[in-house]
Amino acid sequence: MRALLLGKTQQLVSRVFNHPVRPSAAVRWRAAQARLLCSSSPDEEKPRPSMLRHLTSKIKATGPIPVAEYMREVLTNPVTGYYVKNNMLGPDGDFITSPEISQIFGELLGIWIISEWMGAGGPKQLQLVELGPGKGSLAADVLRVFSQLQSVLSGASMSLHLVEVSPALSHIQAQNLTGTRNQEADSEDEPVYRRGETSTGLPVSWYRRLDDVPAGFSIFLAHEFFDALPIHKFQRTEKGWREVMVDIDPEKPDQLRFVVAPSSTLASSTLVQADERRHHVEVCAEGGVIVQQLARRITEDGGAALIADYGHDGTKTDTFRGFKGHQLHDVLASPGSADLTADVDFSYLRRVAGGGVACMGPVSQRTFLKNMGIDTRLQVLLRNCSDPSTRKQLISSYDMLTNPAKMGERFHFFSLLHPSRLAKPKTSEGLKLEKKSPAPLPVAGFAELSFS
Ligand code: SAH
Repeated sequence: MRALLLGKTQQLVSRVFNHPVRPSAAVRWRAAQARLLCSSSPDEEKPRPSMLRHLTSKIKATGPIPVAEYMREVLTNPVTGYYVKNNMLGPDGDFITSPEISQIFGELLGIWIISEWMGAGGPKQLQLVELGPGKGSLAADVLRVFSQLQSVLSGASMSLHLVEVSPALSHIQAQNLTGTRNQEADSEDEPVYRRGETSTGLPVSWYRRLDDVPAGFSIFLAHEFFDALPIHKFQRTEKGWREVMVDIDPEKPDQLRFVVAPSSTLASSTLVQADERRHHVEVCAEGGVIVQQLARRITEDGGAALIADYGHDGTKTDTFRGFKGHQLHDVLASPGSADLTADVDFSYLRRVAGGGVACMGPVSQRTFLKNMGIDTRLQVLLRNCSDPSTRKQLISSYDMLTNPAKMGERFHFFSLLHPSRLAKPKTSEGLKLEKKSPAPLPVAGFAELSFS
């Protein structure tokens, strides 16, 4: 069975890999900058006074606010939030992401999804759920793989579910994925705020929250989503853990500053682990809640989640930073004009996921993509491409994604799986385990596949 699954994943890979660069996709390859190396357009220099006014009146009314509240307001305030108002992705925006850099990235994730669907026995229903889909490029690349492997998936009824807080980005996603075949809900209260259909007839729905996505066997994707969720920051002091808050600078009333809360807050007394050894910690409680929801859904309905982001395993301290025009930006300066982000603490996600799901990783992006066969895919594309500039772009994009000094070691892949997925295979009678139990079935990306 193990050999069968490995063999099947390899077959999927070679079937997708035999497709050349699509003529339209070739232009999507471009030299890229990692989010950390981020030039400002003159327009972007303008501060957003309304967000600063909103924050200062809030602080004047109730006192300093937790960093998590600051981050939530700045990024997702329904009127002036950064994600709500901007199209921040790409060379002209504030940062660029792997799916925007290369089509291969989404193709390999498409193969991963089909492999996990097969690993689960090929259920009749397959919901692809993406959290924070950006421009929709990752979903588009995954759906292209689904079309190429239609015969494999033919038995499944498929649908795409996008969890997106930004109306502006949902509009771009709808254009990219459905053209004009989509429409907004009549009422703002509808859990599905937009519906559409791809050119191949696959239904697409947009939600503001994961909670609104219907139950059912699902594969969840979250690429550079968790790093955008609000973090609490805590500082170890002589009196114990204290929460870091955002206050108005008393000497410059139109500027903000960090202060340490004089006494403990609910967050500082509940979110820091008793055996914590660091002096400063960041905890993304909202990310924890989402992981618990994913874990519950996977346990109850089957499926898997693939979380890819930059992060650490409970070792880093102060990672909160801003990006504007592909440059680092002071997190408290002109709030709402720049992206805010913090490294994902994968050890925290693993802990809150609980025992109901199996966790894989985190493994580096380089390891994951190499295990998924990125080298073979690059060779096939190069073999089919004679244009020197496209060849150069193919190679530089590959390098950006996998080079340890670029995105290769900084980004990690982490997965939640239904526990049955890693269960040891039973004997042919289906009852007793063999004397020498075989290893659990391999999970693509986290285990090496060999390509002949
Ligand atoms: N996954 C994409 C985009 C990453 S940027 C890519 O890799 O290219 C973060 C995405 O998450 C954006 O689409 C943003 O609007 C969305 N987002 C941020 N906070 C969110 C929240 N709380 N709920 C839903 N979507 C959110």
